[in-house]
Amino acid sequence: MTDCLFCKIVSGDVPAKVVRESARTVAFRDINPQAPTHVLVIPRDHHQNVAELAAADADLAAEVLREAHQVAVAEGVAEEGYRVVFNTGPQAGQTVFHVHAHVLGGRGLNWPPG
Ligand code: C5P
Repeated sequence: MTDCLFCKIVSGDVPAKVVRESARTVAFRDINPQAPTHVLVIPRDHHQNVAELAAADADLAAEVLREAHQVAVAEGVAEEGYRVVFNTGPQAGQTVFHVHAHVLGGRGLNWPPG
């Protein structure tokens, strides 16, 4: 999609601090981190949210989850614990409508989230 911010990160038209890439995904640091580790994992293909992604391409949805775990391993937070969040829809706080997994770790995380 031409007017999608995360599609522009995939194409390199918008800069991002990329930490990991696979053939079908990109992981980059969130510009407004909410934890010592806060990385977003996105599919290169445009899907609006995780429900749409899972329905359209279950293999790609699984790859996003695998990549999220590999980010946690690389960041050194996999053993102590981390959180993977897909905000889905405006009421859940989704502001960018290209599906992204937030990988959060490196501090104690409250439950329930706000
Ligand atoms: O789940 P939500 O849609 O709110 O998350 C979007 C995330 O994208 C935010 O955490 C925001 O800080 C991040 N972002 C980014 N780089 C941009 C624009 C937004 O990391 N250029």
